[in-house]
Amino acid sequence: MPKMPHGKPAGVRCAHLLNDLRCELFGLATRPRVCSSLQASMEMCGSNRDYALQYLHDLERLSNPSTQSP
Ligand code: SF4
Repeated sequence: MPKMPHGKPAGVRCAHLLNDLRCELFGLATRPRVCSSLQASMEMCGSNRDYALQYLHDLERLSNPSTQSP
């Protein structure tokens, strides 16, 4: 990621997310593979922005190593 050479930390807004919520790297070779390969689904997106943001928040919490039980 050109503007985030060390990656995007969880919970931090991507530096490539434009004010109108479009990805400025869309269609470019510099767009991370994880972004271009993501397949949106109803489970992930729901029917509104609040649902989608809560889903992302839950994924970040569940995948955070510091919140895992030993
Ligand atoms: S799709 Fe990837 S690169 Fe583009 S704004 Fe979202 S996180 Fe950033």
